[in-house]
Amino acid sequence: MREVFELKDKDVMGRIGRLRTAHGVIETPAILPVVRPGADASRLRKFGAQIIITNAYLIYRSPELRNQARDLGVHRLLGWDGALMTDSGSYQLYEYRGIEVENSEIVRFQQEIGSDIGVPLDIPSSIYISHSRARAELDRTLNRLREARELIDDERDGMILAGTIQGSIYPDLREYAAREASRIGFDLYPIGGVVPLMEQYRYGDLVRVILHSKINLEPSAPIHLFGAGHPMVFALAVALGCDLFDSAAYALYASDGRYLSPSGTYFIEKMEYLPCSCPVCSERSPEDLRSDKDLLADHNLYTSFEEIRRIKEAIREKRLWELVQMRVRSHPSLLEGLKSAVSFADLIERFDPISKTSFFYSGPESSRRPEVIRYSNRLDRFELGGTVLITTERVLKQLNIEHDHLFLLKPPFGPYPVELSETYPVGPSEIPKTPDHEAMVVAGSNVRRLIELNPDVRFIIACEQEWEGYIGDIEKEQVEVVWV
Ligand SMILES: [Zn+2]
Repeated sequence: MREVFELKDKDVMGRIGRLRTAHGVIETPAILPVVRPGADASRLRKFGAQIIITNAYLIYRSPELRNQARDLGVHRLLGWDGALMTDSGSYQLYEYRGIEVENSEIVRFQQEIGSDIGVPLDIPSSIYISHSRARAELDRTLNRLREARELIDDERDGMILAGTIQGSIYPDLREYAAREASRIGFDLYPIGGVVPLMEQYRYGDLVRVILHSKINLEPSAPIHLFGAGHPMVFALAVALGCDLFDSAAYALYASDGRYLSPSGTYFIEKMEYLPCSCPVCSERSPEDLRSDKDLLADHNLYTSFEEIRRIKEAIREKRLWELVQMRVRSHPSLLEGLKSAVSFADLIERFDPISKTSFFYSGPESSRRPEVIRYSNRLDRFELGGTVLITTERVLKQLNIEHDHLFLLKPPFGPYPVELSETYPVGPSEIPKTPDHEAMVVAGSNVRRLIELNPDVRFIIACEQEWEGYIGDIEKEQVEVVWV
């Protein structure tokens, strides 16, 4: 395998990367606007597009386009000199079933017309089928991936062959698909068959599908989330390790009168104001966008690219988790997605970079942030003896208790040695004055854990009554509790 993907920066499981293609290096996370075969793609530069995606099957199906693409190459056919990915028609297979092309034929065709990233003709399994049927379809997909891999040598043929992960909504099948695809060996892995989950706002399932795939893929391989084009999903998907998004949504939503924003969808019919400063919205009225759906599509693209830039900046500043917490509040189903993600907190912790500078507590999910998990896992590193006082800053000022070690309480981390007051993450973390229940629960369980880890140490806990519900049940000979 060549090294085609290089990481520049990361936060949570998200990253800024550089993907090398035959038509230049593109920076990820990236959106690939979907371009209809025959349309002019050159105008997409102004939005910030570095790479586009078109459908090789639709080109192949039309004798005229097919010949043109073979003669001119797909780049000239679309008037685009940047990187270009082609899809194989799998989506048509999903939508309309009948498709008249063989896997080997469409894979070779993508290479012949000069695509930079090509995709085998995988079987996009429905989310409603039984496990056994999904497994049978997955086996066919894997056979097609193997067949395509034998046909294409990325280096020799100048095309990155992508290995799509299928498996319906079954975690074990997604994991199996990812392991097998990795074994076959690709430089890029799309996660497919997820559009129906997004259409139905089943973000909890979407998150599980992404993470069960991700667990078994090479951590450094770029991931494409097929069909995710709504800007409100980007932050969460990037935080879970997705790098590429193709967007037909900007045009599809526009044709349906929908005005996209990173915090949800508006209906242009009902709008009186345009809450955006893109070149379209700063010069036009809602009436203009109602009468010209191309303008609406342009806004949808501008706002999508803006969100990607915002996400990159959040990765640089190590504030991605906070952006995600903000974004998932756009819709209860997205919040469900984040809740589903925090059940994988230990996995996420393994990816999250250790050195950061700030931690803003921005809601109950902050209690399951990688930094908190990591802190809890490392409570065993303190060497303690004699008497340990666990208290709060306020109580410390009121009481005078003899001790050998001093731990202060700070939700959601719980007890931390006063010597770490300036050290990330506990020291600089910004927590509301009235912590929420989730933060107190995690803090309380860390107090208990610290005590259990040090059975020979004497503990004095001196704190306010509000802690009673969280640590009041600690009854051990080694522990003395003083409520203030
Ligand atoms: Zn706009």
